Amino acid sequence: MALYVILMGVQGAGKGEQAKFISQTYDDIPQVSTGDLFRAMKTRTDPLAQRIQQIMAEGRLIDDDTTNEVVAERLSQPDAANGVILDGYPRTPAQADFLEQYLADNGKKVGAVVLLEINLFVAFKRAFGRVKAADGAVYNIYYQNEGLTYIQEAHPEHAYPPRIVATLNASGEVLQRRHDDADAAAVIKRIDTYLETTAPLIAYYDKKGLVQRINAEQSIEAVSADIRKVLDAVR
Ligand code: AMP
Repeated sequence: MALYVILMGVQGAGKGEQAKFISQTYDDIPQVSTGDLFRAMKTRTDPLAQRIQQIMAEGRLIDDDTTNEVVAERLSQPDAANGVILDGYPRTPAQADFLEQYLADNGKKVGAVVLLEINLFVAFKRAFGRVKAADGAVYNIYYQNEGLTYIQEAHPEHAYPPRIVATLNASGEVLQRRHDDADAAAVIKRIDTYLETTAPLIAYYDKKGLVQRINAEQSIEAVSADIRKVLDAVR
């Protein structure tokens, strides 16, 4: 049976990791991220792709019709025939309506909305504390900080809150941060936007009895086990 899962969670809730788990566990159904689909259009020069780049650069949402069209095109691909894990879509009730209609037209429906719940301060620390070494090793100044030292470095004109500079003790390597994680205010803004945009959708799917709340502060394995219980029952 086809499995359509909507994965929701604030950045840092572990969506990427759990999407991989769901895919591996259920027939390799692909993860479909609208953000990734839009980013992949970067190299295209047609007017639609250029308009999308412009809107993304301004941090706004792409209009519903365009988004729905891109998703419908993706869902019609052969590798999506057994279902998909949707990430970043739907983002508005109008998109949710479109998805429901699109699936119904194809004799299918959303099986579950998996909501990965974490305390928002934990979400902040996961994003703001994340640092990476050149060899790809990932650390977090709050949670995985063995062997590293960090200092808070104020902006010379105090134009933004102090940034964190972490160094590996053994080699002296200065660890890198994702550009969009480095600014505390930007991380908070993203969390805020997430809450604003998902609240109406959670209400929308709660009415349909589809929301499955998972405690995402547990270990990765424990979260996966909870998701498995839920999705096995749905199937
Ligand atoms: P994300 O990687 O999910 O944060 O998405 C990056 C950007 O892509 C967003 O800031 C929006 O501009 C656009 N985008 C992604 N998904 C959607 C969606 N479902 N509806 C509208 N715009 C979207």
